[in-house]
Amino acid sequence: MNETVRQQLQAFLAEQEQRGLLKKERVLTSSQSRSIEVAGKKVLNFCANNYLGLSDNKEVIQAAKDAMDRWGYGLSSVRFICGTQALHKQLEKRISTFLRTDDTILFSSCFDANGALFEPLLGEGDAVISDELNHASIIDGIRLCKAERFRYKHSDMNDLKECLQQSRHCRRRLIATDGVFSMDGDVAKLAEICALAKDFDALVMVDDSHATGYLGPTGRGTVELCGVEGQVDLITTTFGKACGGASGGCISGNQLLIDLYRQRARPYLFSNTLAPAICGGTLKVLDILEQDNPYKDLTMRNAKRFRSLMEAAGFDLVKGETAIVPVMVYDENKAVAMADALLERGIYVIGFCYPVVPQGRARIRVQLSAVHTQQDIETAVDAFVSVAKEMKLL
Ligand SMILES: *Cc1c(COP(=O)(O)O)cnc(C)c1O
Repeated sequence: MNETVRQQLQAFLAEQEQRGLLKKERVLTSSQSRSIEVAGKKVLNFCANNYLGLSDNKEVIQAAKDAMDRWGYGLSSVRFICGTQALHKQLEKRISTFLRTDDTILFSSCFDANGALFEPLLGEGDAVISDELNHASIIDGIRLCKAERFRYKHSDMNDLKECLQQSRHCRRRLIATDGVFSMDGDVAKLAEICALAKDFDALVMVDDSHATGYLGPTGRGTVELCGVEGQVDLITTTFGKACGGASGGCISGNQLLIDLYRQRARPYLFSNTLAPAICGGTLKVLDILEQDNPYKDLTMRNAKRFRSLMEAAGFDLVKGETAIVPVMVYDENKAVAMADALLERGIYVIGFCYPVVPQGRARIRVQLSAVHTQQDIETAVDAFVSVAKEMKLL
């Protein structure tokens, strides 16, 4: 590496460090669960996307092992060469049934699904209209297409309408939104979005990564929660959060669109098939979701319980109805210091600062899971209270 590049990179890292923004990866010495070991120390985990607690579910693990025994470790191929097993078709069918869509196409991740979604469908003369707080993978997916870009203020329906009016000249228009926004834990206004889409003859895509499996009356996500089933053209989601937490994702929706993606989606055509173990594990997750899904209600009960205890203790929370509970600290350094102090007390949470959230809006994001016990939640709240008092924040 030449000296100039070396110095530039060192300067970047030093600056991040100095601003307290250098991301540290804490090494777990256990599997993912309600209680985990961080560098040998047992702590309660309140920062995983393990909403249903399925990451270490015995049945899911067994199903993944069985799939590996039956279907092998890997395919050494993309889907259209020799990478499509009956197992993959079965999983696609099951997801379509669960999400009540025509068809589904698998990807290695939801990041890839979003990377695949825009470019085949939208080109010059088309428009994509995106919520300003959409996930990075939607933003990157949009960058890969040549459509005109419109960005509306977060969940601002007047601004969305304005964008739809401004894009009247375009051939195809697609509104893109997260179902649940990861930093505030709020739900997209899908009923209003779908009504506007209908009025303006636009398509709608919803990324339900933070919702599939636990939100909505039967866990089918925000599309079900908001009562807009059949009105959303494309749903993307991940198997890496509530649905087992390993990896993998999909686009599910209208038949013609999924057919298009099988022909044209680049991460599908040029990246390896989803591993059999993940397909097998995800099929078991779908069994659980489609039977009585006992976990979903526990997730929501735990989230409500944590919210009400924290509010009673005087904390400032972002209001919401999901298992993401942001505890506002505002000051960046204090948010990081508070999360560190909580970890010291055996509560694993993360402080989020700019640029992940707006400047001056630093927070600790707490994520609840079906596997937390009532005692876990009380322990966490007590730790928050004593740390906040120490820091003179309460
Ligand atoms: C987590 C997340 C993704 C990425 O999912 P992976 O399967 O981990 O790539 C995409 N979109 C949203 C909204 C997410 O929250």
